[in-house]
Amino acid sequence: MQLNRRVNRLLALIGLVVLAVVIFRKIVPSATTEVNQQEAEVGRTTTPKHPDSGSPSSSTNPLLQEVGEPDGILTHVGDTDRPRANATLLSLVRNSELRGIVRTMRDVERTFNSKFNYPWTFFNDVPFTEEFKQKTQAMTKAPCRYELIPKAHWETPAWINKDLVGVSSEILEEDDIMYAKQQSYHQMCRWNSGMFYKHPALKDVRWYWRIEPNTRYYCSIDYDVFRYMEDNDKTYGYVINIYDAPQSIRTLWPTTMEFVAQHPEYVHANNAIQWLTDNDVRPNHNVIANGYSTCHFWSNFEIGDMDFFRSDAYDKYFEYLDHAGGFFYERWGDAPVHSIGLGLFLDKSKIHWFKDIGYLHMPYYNCPASKKCSGCRAGRFTDAGYLNRENCIDNFFKYVHAD
Ligand code: GDP
Ligand code: MN
Repeated sequence: MQLNRRVNRLLALIGLVVLAVVIFRKIVPSATTEVNQQEAEVGRTTTPKHPDSGSPSSSTNPLLQEVGEPDGILTHVGDTDRPRANATLLSLVRNSELRGIVRTMRDVERTFNSKFNYPWTFFNDVPFTEEFKQKTQAMTKAPCRYELIPKAHWETPAWINKDLVGVSSEILEEDDIMYAKQQSYHQMCRWNSGMFYKHPALKDVRWYWRIEPNTRYYCSIDYDVFRYMEDNDKTYGYVINIYDAPQSIRTLWPTTMEFVAQHPEYVHANNAIQWLTDNDVRPNHNVIANGYSTCHFWSNFEIGDMDFFRSDAYDKYFEYLDHAGGFFYERWGDAPVHSIGLGLFLDKSKIHWFKDIGYLHMPYYNCPASKKCSGCRAGRFTDAGYLNRENCIDNFFKYVHAD
């Protein structure tokens, strides 16, 4: 009797797993053997044309020539007649990361914000502790705001199938995708993709500079970066351009193409699709990601115009992706999602490389040659040589900043 019950239970469990796999394959076509086979073939037959490229060579690396302030209209520290922009330093952070954010605030205040006094806005999915508030406010004379994320913006949406998330996370783990089973990481990526700009505390704010705990800033910035963006008609600023793990975004590009087929009117005539679809340098990435090069702006640093993210084009794109489920069934990051949205829906001339901002988020740097910088070696992209191939900024130069 007991044995029978056990057998029944086992059969029910097997049934559930089979059902989940069938549904998963329907929703995530690239998980089928066909693509795995394709991938294996590419791995066997194609050697990248530039096996070690990705890293600009020393003769062409623009970070090795003395890097000054950008061209265009600049507002310097002493230009008191010029108003500040409508902007905030923005940080999603956990209470447990207090030391890390304090360290980064010290850098940001020293290099930039002690001169310009932009407010800080901290976001968290749980309330900030009194200690967190005291120790961060002590780092700046600018006002700090501490904001709780509404549950509706943070929690996994109701249409996400938990069983399917379980099965998918096994597959992601087999593919060595970091954070595959950490639900909060998926939630964080979703929030950064399509929720931050909807927070009520930012309703009347236009510009943000995203700041992550434990990132480092090395160079003195003596002009107002937000005013630079506004006065020179820029929408998005980045420092680092890298490849993503293609196994984490297998269906992101096909899902994007579905959206674009429904809304061709959102695609900008002067887009950066060539940058998004390059398959010259790392063809394997393009194959596994089903048409996307995986090259993206590394979004732990970004200076951006929230009006772009609030536009119909981007926000409807996010809603479409959100319902497709890849933030949870795969591990779509906010970096590739922002990058694809920007690359398709924005005039590419509105994207700015802040080459003069010295930056580190482990393990990658942006290190300009400049007397204004100390602590990072000019031109260095990473301390781990084999990671140089993750740099795809050359692609961005090739297709976007051709000048
Ligand atoms: P990685 O850079 O991709 O390895 O991810 P991080 O661990 O640095 O997370 C990205 C950002 O989101 C950081 O600013 C973290 O502080 C923040 N973050 C990640 N998970 C959570 C979370 O569960 N709650 C909160 N409040 N912040 C989070
Ligand atoms: Mn990080």
